[in-house]
This record gives sequence, structure tokens and C-alpha cells, in this order.
Amino acid sequence: MSALVDAGLLADVQKFGAADVSACYSCGNCTAICPLSDNDGTFPRRLIRYAQVGMKDALLGSKELWTCYHCGECSDTCPTQADPGGFMAAARRYAIANYDRTHLARTMYTSPVAGSVIAILLAACFALFMYASHGAQSTTSLNLFGFIPEPLIHNTGVVVMILVFLAGLAGVIGMARGISRREGISVHDVVGSRAALARSGRALWSALAVESLGQLRFRTDCESVQAEQPWYRRRWFIHASTMWGFLGLLTATILDYGLALVGIKATGTPVPIWYPVRLLGTVAGLFLLYGTSMLILDRLRKANRAASDSTASDWTLLVLLWITGLTGFLIEIALYLPSPPAWGYWVFLFHVSVAMELVLLAPFMKFAHAVYRPVALFFYALAGDKANAAR
Ligand code: SF4
Ligand code: SF4
Repeated sequence: MSALVDAGLLADVQKFGAADVSACYSCGNCTAICPLSDNDGTFPRRLIRYAQVGMKDALLGSKELWTCYHCGECSDTCPTQADPGGFMAAARRYAIANYDRTHLARTMYTSPVAGSVIAILLAACFALFMYASHGAQSTTSLNLFGFIPEPLIHNTGVVVMILVFLAGLAGVIGMARGISRREGISVHDVVGSRAALARSGRALWSALAVESLGQLRFRTDCESVQAEQPWYRRRWFIHASTMWGFLGLLTATILDYGLALVGIKATGTPVPIWYPVRLLGTVAGLFLLYGTSMLILDRLRKANRAASDSTASDWTLLVLLWITGLTGFLIEIALYLPSPPAWGYWVFLFHVSVAMELVLLAPFMKFAHAVYRPVALFFYALAGDKANAAR
């Protein structure tokens, strides 16, 4: 089997924020110190070597790329200041850009001005599109869906979700094919027998529940570099708060539409604060706002290695998430005020536009790692399980 060599690979990864790793002489300090590297995953040294010699397919097909949480321990011990932790983060950005066939992710990452203009224009387009169909602002109650029709929001949301699904699916298929080829994992190994199905089930549980939702290795193995911080300031908790918050809000939105579909409650009907779906949305919003606020503060203060090199695309994502959380709370406050404030309608329009944009841009920013990381972790667990079974 032959492999194409990309002579410009290292220079290309550097466009995504990697330091010059050409001085790396494979001493192995980084692999030895990394709390997540094991016999199966000799990273980050091996991945740096791939970039040095132009092995693009090997780099993009490395499941290990996504197991790193950028704790920075490796960078602190590197004798050549190659910043291997920063290299891993840049290589993940590079991978997101390569899995995306539209080149939008590459633009968002490598052209800060163009990326920012796209983000602002997209929000403005959504706002103008919604506003073009606006209705009256009731002064007796805050009738948000009388102002922006609910069917318009629903239908636009469905179109956005379909586009995101197609873009995400194309990326995931490309990634899964690359990793499975490198790992020698066939479709038969995943679903071809009862034993394979059982292995896949365990790998799926490990990737989704244990590692992604539970943050096990981030929480435990990366703990040494966070040990002096109280739990609510630790990177894993801030990261998890943001993820749990977003997933909770997404679940509350889907449940709200689900209740309307089965005729239990029309979307937008006023409900008390303790109503289960509203309560879920409120708690999730608090997690999202806390997580994103801390992520922004940490990046402003360059509080750790991961927060010290931010791209414009990283900022765009954080700002969109933060605005979505904040405007959601402002709408909730407006809904419970004794007389409906006029600003509630405009905040609602802003909230819907930014939320739509956030979802639409998800496959083209760091947000995409929410899908790519579990896929890589699935293969990581599957390969480990398969190796254990073969022994
Ligand atoms: S990145 Fe640094 S620590 Fe890692 S192998 Fe290269 S020189 Fe050694
Ligand atoms: S940043 Fe941390 S987790 Fe990532 S490769 Fe370096 S030591 Fe390992």
C-alpha cells in the first residue's frame, strides 16, 4: 500500500496555530509525560512526526488526535519549545477544516477578518429574514410568537438542522473511513457478529457516556495539572458545564416542540418556572452561561495553556454561545415581568438569529469536536477492546 506525501503539510498545520515543530527530534519526553498517552497511543510525538514527513492521511486518520485535552504538560517539558500540546490543538483545527468540503471551516480558522464578517453577516441575514415577517407587538402580554411567527422559526430551524446534519455527516464519514482504514477495523468488526455488536456497544457507551458526558479521563488523568484549583474552576468542569448546558437547552427545545406535536402544550404558552421543560431550560442555561463566561475569562487572562492561544474562530464560537445563553435569560426575565417590556421582542429576535447561526456554523468551528471527539473515542475504545480480545 502506498501513501501520498504532502510536502506542505507542516506549513499548512502552522496556519492553524501550530508552533514550528521542525526542531522536534523525537526525544519522547512529551509522550512519557502525557497523562493520556498509552501503549496504543504514542502521541503527541508520533503525530508531530507525521506532520514533519508529510503523512497527511496518517495525521487525519489518527484517533489519538482527539484524545488530547490540551493540558499542556508535554509543552512544559519539551526541550525544543515545539509546544506539542499546541500542535495537537492546531492539528485538530486542521482536521476539522479538512473534513469540511465547503472550505468554510478553513476560512473561519485562517482568515480572521473574513470569518468575522461571515459571522456578522449571517446573524444579520437571519434577523432580517425573521423581521420581514414580523407581526404586532402586543402590549398586554409578551406574545413573542405573535411578533416572529412560530411556524417561520420552526421551518427555518428544520432547514438549518438538515444542512448541519448533511455537513456533519459528510465530515464524520470521511473521518471514520480514515481512522478505520488506519486501524484495520472493517464494517464486519463493528456490526458483523454478536461479539462485534457487543464490542461496539461497549465502545459506544465508553465514548458517549463515560468519556464525553462524564469526562472521565479529562477529570481524572488530567487532574494533576488542575489539582490546586477548586472543582468549579477546573478545566474539565468548565468544559462540561458548557456542554451539559448546550445539550440541556437543545433537549428542552426539542421537548417543547414534542409537547406541541402531541397536543399537550402549544409552543410559547406561558408556564410556571417549575414546569419540567422550563426548569430544564433554566438549569441548562445557567450551566451554559457559567461555562462560557469562565471560558471567556480564562482566554482573556490566558489562564492555562489551552486558553493562551485563541483563534478568531474560537472567539466567535464562545461569543455566540454566551450571547445565546444570556439572551435566553433576558427573555425569561421579560416573560415574568408584570407588564411586557418592548425590549423583550427585540431580544427575542436577536436570540433566535444568533441561535440559528450558532447551529448552522457548528460543523465549521471548534463546535465540530463535539461530534468528532466521540467518533474518535469510539474507535479508540473499539481498537483497545479488539486488541484485548486477541490476546
Ligand atoms: S515535541 Fe519536544 S518533547 Fe516531544 S518528541 Fe519532540 S522534542 Fe521531544
Ligand atoms: S496537551 Fe496534555 S493531553 Fe495533550 S498530548 Fe500534551 S500532555 Fe497529552
